[in-house]
Amino acid sequence: MNEHLLERFVNYAKVNTRSDMNSQTVPTTYTQVEFALTLAEELKKIGMKEVEYNEANGFVTATLPSNLMVDVPVIGFIAHIDTADFNAENIQPQIHKNYDGKDILLNEDLGIVMTTTEFPQLVNYIGKTLVTTDGTTLLGADDKAGMASIVTAMEELIQHPELPHGKIRVAFGPDEEIGRGALLFDVDHFQADFAYTLDSGVVGKFEYETFNAAQAELTIKGTSVHPGSAKDSMVNALLVAAQFATALPQEEVPEKTAGYEGFYMLSSQVGTIDEVKATYIIRDHDKATFEKRKKQFAALVDQFNQSFDHPRIALHLYDQYYNMRDIIEKDFSIVELALEAYRSIGIEPDVKPFRGGTDGSIITYKGLPTPNIFTGAENLHGKYEFVSLEGMQQAAQVVIEIARLNSKK
Ligand SMILES: [Zn+2]
Repeated sequence: MNEHLLERFVNYAKVNTRSDMNSQTVPTTYTQVEFALTLAEELKKIGMKEVEYNEANGFVTATLPSNLMVDVPVIGFIAHIDTADFNAENIQPQIHKNYDGKDILLNEDLGIVMTTTEFPQLVNYIGKTLVTTDGTTLLGADDKAGMASIVTAMEELIQHPELPHGKIRVAFGPDEEIGRGALLFDVDHFQADFAYTLDSGVVGKFEYETFNAAQAELTIKGTSVHPGSAKDSMVNALLVAAQFATALPQEEVPEKTAGYEGFYMLSSQVGTIDEVKATYIIRDHDKATFEKRKKQFAALVDQFNQSFDHPRIALHLYDQYYNMRDIIEKDFSIVELALEAYRSIGIEPDVKPFRGGTDGSIITYKGLPTPNIFTGAENLHGKYEFVSLEGMQQAAQVVIEIARLNSKK
């Protein structure tokens, strides 16, 4: 399995599939379409059935038919094609076989080194095969590692018909990193009973709790007057924006919170005396606290507006995704199935609330419960991103083991 998996991952990683927040096409970049079409061909070649590329949503889906005499629940495995908002031009994955535990020279010409002082977790990979960047791009192991593990697991199951499995559906979709891809995912067409994304970090991680998430967009209107004659007439939108930011709870920000603690975060702010546009994100695992946070935010806007002669702050507040736990809790067996698979192949599960969202958060709320499995990748979204071959292999084994355990249900 190993050589195939490594080659497959490197081939995927080399293709620039960065998504683009500012594009309105589906997918947002054409390279994702090309990648999806090549992937569809590969899936046919390894023997997958019902391979389809859906132009309306950019998803490639395929089926591995059951090899059982009885019906068992249909499992889906899902990963995303796009990579994060970081340089993805000319990605040159570097393979470090039998890693010696020392600093890794990523780029000799530019003197870029991944040091064990800065990344002490590297010690966990001694003797393993690491894939890193050349220091100028991201690697895109998020989520090409997930993709490579799923495809390799399917290939393994096809080549070994003695491994029991029910019907399996796989899906590979675009634009996860900008939070849009899964919104268009066609759950009815996918026809799985439950699914897993492979889109998390180090080996052992498992996530079925995510944030509830909302975004608040503020437009603050000032009154711009020549500073020489501004007394009692100027309203400086820049200052109003600054006052607003400091009126929010100062301890409830990402840099001061962890675990189940929610936050407000100012994510962008641009403008002039005349007008400022500010964007905040609001996050909380607990639904009730999440609703309270949104109310508090809106109340603060009202309070500011009342201090002016007329309302100067317009608020556009909307939900982005919800904590999948509220749905997954209703049938915990899909969590138990995955954790049983981890343990049965010797992986100690590390289950923590995820301080973010996944494609699975959106897909779960579309009616398909979809927790998240590890990929083996670390330092995502930047030039120090890396993945171990062994980690990807373990992810592929988890997929195969979940299918085996499910075949006995
Ligand atoms: Zn991802």
